[in-house]
Amino acid sequence: MATLRFEVIGEAFKKRPLEVATPDARPSEYFAINVFNKEKMARYLSTEVYNKMVDVIDHGAPMERSIANQVADGMKRWAMELGATHYTHWFHPLTDTTAEKHDAFVEHDGQGGLLEVFDGKLLVQQEGDASSFPNGGIRATFEARGYSAWDPTSPAFVMDDTLCIPTVFLSYTGEALDYKAPLLKALHAVDKAATEVCHYFDPEVKRVTSFLGWEQEYFLVDEGLYAARPDLLMSGRTLMGHGSAKDQQLEDHYFGAIPERVAAFMKELEIESLKLGIPAKTRHNEAAPNQFELAPIYEETNIACDHNMLVMILMKKIARKHGFRCLLHEKPFAGINGSGKHNNWSLGSDRGHRLMSPGKTTEDNLMFITFVVNTLAAVYRHNGLLKASIMSANNTHRLGGHEAPPAIISSFLGKQLTELFDALENSSSEELFKIAGKTGKRILEMPQIPELLIDNTDRNRTSPFAFTGNRFEFRAVGSEANCACAMIALNGAVAEQLVEFKQHVDALIANGMDKREALIKEIQKLITYCKPIRFDGNGYSEEWKAEAARRGLDCETSAPNIFKAYANDTSVRMFESLSIMNRAELEARNEIKWEIYTKKIQIEARIFGDMALNHIIPVATKYQGQLVDNVYKMKEILGTEGEALSASNINLIRRIASLVHSIESGVAEMIECRKVANRIQGLYEKALAYHDTVAPKLEVLRTYIDDLEEVVDDSLWPLPKYRELLFIR
Ligand code: ADP
Ligand code: MG
Repeated sequence: MATLRFEVIGEAFKKRPLEVATPDARPSEYFAINVFNKEKMARYLSTEVYNKMVDVIDHGAPMERSIANQVADGMKRWAMELGATHYTHWFHPLTDTTAEKHDAFVEHDGQGGLLEVFDGKLLVQQEGDASSFPNGGIRATFEARGYSAWDPTSPAFVMDDTLCIPTVFLSYTGEALDYKAPLLKALHAVDKAATEVCHYFDPEVKRVTSFLGWEQEYFLVDEGLYAARPDLLMSGRTLMGHGSAKDQQLEDHYFGAIPERVAAFMKELEIESLKLGIPAKTRHNEAAPNQFELAPIYEETNIACDHNMLVMILMKKIARKHGFRCLLHEKPFAGINGSGKHNNWSLGSDRGHRLMSPGKTTEDNLMFITFVVNTLAAVYRHNGLLKASIMSANNTHRLGGHEAPPAIISSFLGKQLTELFDALENSSSEELFKIAGKTGKRILEMPQIPELLIDNTDRNRTSPFAFTGNRFEFRAVGSEANCACAMIALNGAVAEQLVEFKQHVDALIANGMDKREALIKEIQKLITYCKPIRFDGNGYSEEWKAEAARRGLDCETSAPNIFKAYANDTSVRMFESLSIMNRAELEARNEIKWEIYTKKIQIEARIFGDMALNHIIPVATKYQGQLVDNVYKMKEILGTEGEALSASNINLIRRIASLVHSIESGVAEMIECRKVANRIQGLYEKALAYHDTVAPKLEVLRTYIDDLEEVVDDSLWPLPKYRELLFIR
């Protein structure tokens, strides 16, 4: 049966890869069917070329241009069999979305006809106009060219009718204009540095891989209601809206039964994800009404980042087929939880070491502690940069609320690991090493790590960077963000720290110290050094804010200031020493962050003004007019009695008039603030002006509108309300 089904599906896939209904097929049958992975390479490439490609993918061997033509030919044949007519270089500009420009495979054949063509040149590199992508001043207007270059480590895939080739995107002078280029460099750096540190424990290690397992949260709203909300349509969040009587207070949504319509959406999303090689695994309702999550099995970080971008594209596309819109904004609704994207991160070696998992022997545990403590030291040194890497205009609404990690990066270790760290820190060398009997050998006596640790899901949801047994969970990442942004900072920071650690340990060994004693000595030093980053308490509390400031952690809350950490000396030194990015590239990234921040608030302010003046006030005054009319008529037919009976309506008239007045004058002030801010030249100063003067007005003004929503006739109210938006029917 299974074989038969597979053949039938196989035939259908050849025609329309994305539109095949596969209700009874098993995931193992269609997993990665739209991906040019090793299995397809083996089928479509010669053995020689296949082996070279495997060497590039698995061992980081350089890509030889000579094989590109053959790879391109194999890819084209495979893609065309799936119905592809076009190809594109698929890249991640600094916009939090992906970019693609499709070209058909066609070329003139010189005899009046057409040929399907796709060669190595087109696969490896393409020139494009970089001027329409954020570039932070790197690309002067007269030099608009940029180019995209193939990333052979992330497999090509077919989406709809297009062969998509993952690429990096660079300026013509070689600076990165995307997330992937610096990510690949950061991953290379952490591989190199971690491999060398692994050699203290296992000289056979050749490669260390960085792993990422993201958890994507999102909201679904009914497409019709969405279309009636200009704010959702254009800014991705509701800029106004009174809270629904019932939202998440009963805690009945989290892990609740999935509504049928949503389940149908999820099913299709999973099938399409699996076809693209994304190992979708977990789905569930999240805390807020209409909020859900999808998490795949973790993968190598570069591929995981690509896959996350793909899943976000699929979510938006498939939601519409089910009459929904998918909201990926970090805070679409005030007063209920926003959406994040936990980034579960760990390192593993090609010899099977799970470097963030405790082992069975003392030796294994020394290795584990080495990597955990270096990670903590890196997070401590670069806590400001890590915060910058997850910050955005949208994520500011989520961080620091009582739902997401606070805007201070700290790390939760849990009781057992904390005790172990304390014991290690306070033990003398004599206590840690025992002289063994006759041999006189010094044996390490590290405190045991309980095997329980892995299952110790003593979670602290308020921690932005929590150790969860076999990985760290970077929880502050926003739902709409490109994971690469956080992964560049984290992997880079850890790489730098490991390089430094190795230098110190080597110096001690060179001075005649025993290897394990040298490791312990450096570990002890690091435990003391990174103590300020360790915090197992309540990250939401006011006391923690004061305590974190005392510890010297970055407590900045204003996004434009937070971004500055990209180009401070500590960050530049780290990125430059590992050749991930240079100062110019980092400064450019800063400028882009400020510019995008400004534009997002500007767009919100414009929509808000329009909605307030053209949608809300006319309706409020219309209702006010009806009330006035009613008061007059009451007086007319009932005299003084009518007047007395109208007292509450008169009060309501006053209240509406006063709210309308507050909105009108507030919007006028907000427009004035925008004008002042728009005249500012410096991108940082402009972003700061938007942050300090425009953004707070939006928050105050919405409260007047939300008050009006409570009193104006429901049949007149021009916008779908929270109670309608938040409950799928
Ligand atoms: P949670 O209980 O934290 O919500 P989920 O099951 O939703 O957990 O997601 C956990 C994510 O962490 C998954 O993507 C999973 O594959 C990933 N993960 C598990 N172990 C590791 C690891 N060692 N390194 C990186 N990611 C991991
Ligand atoms: Mg989690």
